[in-house]
Amino acid sequence: MDLERYIRDVPDFPKPGIIFKDITPLLADPAALAAAADHLAEPYADAGVDVVAGIESRGFIFGALVAERLSAGFVPVRKPGKLPCETVAASYELEYGTDTVEMHRDAVAEGHKVLVVDDLIATGGSLAAACKLIGQCSGQIVGISLLIELCFLNGRAKLDKYDVHTLIQVAGE
Ligand code: AMP
Repeated sequence: MDLERYIRDVPDFPKPGIIFKDITPLLADPAALAAAADHLAEPYADAGVDVVAGIESRGFIFGALVAERLSAGFVPVRKPGKLPCETVAASYELEYGTDTVEMHRDAVAEGHKVLVVDDLIATGGSLAAACKLIGQCSGQIVGISLLIELCFLNGRAKLDKYDVHTLIQVAGE
């Protein structure tokens, strides 16, 4: 199935010069949604994944579907101040300033095998920060599975320690 057909390019959103990859047509199509989740999970079917970590907010949608396919649990990686119990936190650079992600400290146990899932990798900053959180809990990252890779931003360079699996590669804008 050609999943790329279900991704809509929206020029100049949320600001001029950005081509936003809108995944809502894919989410709305039952067969495309199921195929995306199957393909995100597939390479890790025998990896013994204990939990899938999904990054707020589109990573929650795919992460939960992948967790179900791998018979694994799901862990939310959230924006600051959203999680009620003790958290670990990691910050990353934005074009202007920094951003932070948080995870419950007890969400990943020492040695737990973790698969990280999100919708898209751009600069890779948020994924690298999510991986740091898992490291802080002594979890073992078995891979990173993503729907879309914006190859021209070379976000992979920040994740070179990990197995990064992407379903749709966008070469240039
Ligand atoms: P980054 O930390 O730069 O890799 O950005 C990752 C997050 O920003 C992704 O999970 C997306 O949700 C969002 N994002 C960045 N660029 C785009 C884009 N061109 N289209 C849609 N979402 C984007």
